[in-house]
Amino acid sequence: MNLTIHRGTNEIGGSCIEVQSGNSRILLDFGMPLLNASGKPFNFREYENLSVNELISKSILPDVKEAYSENSKIDGLIISHSHADHYGLMHYLDKDIPVWIGKATHEILKLNNIFLSQENNIENPNYFERWRQFQIGDFTITPYWNDHSAFDAYSFLIEANGKKLFYSGDFRSHGRKKEVYKNFIENPPKDVDCLIMEGTTIGRNTIKSKTEEDIENDFFECFKNSTSINYVFTSTQNIDRLVSIYKACLKAGKTFVVDVYGAQLLEKLSEFAKLPSLLKGYPNMGVYFYWKLTTKLMHYGFEKMAYKYIPKKIKKDDIISNPSDYVLLVRTSMIWDLKRMNVKDGNLIYSMWSGYKDQSKTKEFIDFFEGNNCTVIDMHTSGHADVETLREYANAINPKLIIPIHTNNKQDYKSIFDQPILELDDNQIYTI
Ligand SMILES: [Zn+2]
Ligand SMILES: [Zn+2]
Repeated sequence: MNLTIHRGTNEIGGSCIEVQSGNSRILLDFGMPLLNASGKPFNFREYENLSVNELISKSILPDVKEAYSENSKIDGLIISHSHADHYGLMHYLDKDIPVWIGKATHEILKLNNIFLSQENNIENPNYFERWRQFQIGDFTITPYWNDHSAFDAYSFLIEANGKKLFYSGDFRSHGRKKEVYKNFIENPPKDVDCLIMEGTTIGRNTIKSKTEEDIENDFFECFKNSTSINYVFTSTQNIDRLVSIYKACLKAGKTFVVDVYGAQLLEKLSEFAKLPSLLKGYPNMGVYFYWKLTTKLMHYGFEKMAYKYIPKKIKKDDIISNPSDYVLLVRTSMIWDLKRMNVKDGNLIYSMWSGYKDQSKTKEFIDFFEGNNCTVIDMHTSGHADVETLREYANAINPKLIIPIHTNNKQDYKSIFDQPILELDDNQIYTI
């Protein structure tokens, strides 16, 4: 079995792994980078007019042979979860490559196409199921469900020709699916030759991550004492976080207000898990119709997605007259409406990775709230395993070899883990 990490040996984001055995070739993830070559936030709009060859020469697209043109020789693409750093460039691949994906992940991608103007259309998806083996050519693949900040995340056991490769994907042990992690540690895959393991938090000095329940409690303490509005700036796709906010709102007697995208995501994903959903009778929830988003939905013929939430509509005047009743989920594209709400003296709770604060849009957004006398509060726990968890995970699998991925600090693996480490470079071929 030959493996090539096309991107990810020395960075967080843009993960792409190719595995070949016999006549079969598969890709694990096809992500968009988070940073560009000069270390600034990656902005795909700067490159969208370039051809595939130009994008390969600039190392934006991974140099995977026979993957982009028609009659591709790739037998399958497997997407681990719905974060763009794992799927964001897949629309460049030959459309005939079979895509294997979790069903909920596909639902998220479909909504992202509408609400975030992405173009990842998968015409004939193959849905894998938790812990159920499937076959692509010579490969037997088992998806393991993960605790991660993405809703439907997996790691994969890849078997072919008597060899076993395990790809961790992104994971943690302190989220709302910690039981899933615990179960994995108690029943790990055995006799693994090679573990490709993420190490996002390595080098970040994370001592012990707060749990998602700790964050829920932090929200509650903040909400219950606040006398004005609370804005929460987080990723709408971080469903664990939305649940924490909702539960804290319920306890503190606040109404949790999302936009149509948030409402639609929660509704779709409530088909897969017990989630607060506006049309399923959950109290203390409302929808704010942001002008820009609603206009866009109408323009593209998706207005029905918005109209069904009209009975749950929270109006600007409701918020202005009783700001302390509300907790609003916000993101940068809502600034036009937020300016017109003209609410001062509230809290802006920043609930994402602090690194995003370097992005100019994020900076402007936070400045806007500070300029309106809002208190900016950080409240977050990572979507990734802390070092203690990574060690526990590696010891449970106890592979013959660990290869670092999704890390800025592969050189530190040797001092952290008890198993042999192989530091690969991007595009280097390794034979297991
Ligand atoms: Zn990632
Ligand atoms: Zn992720």
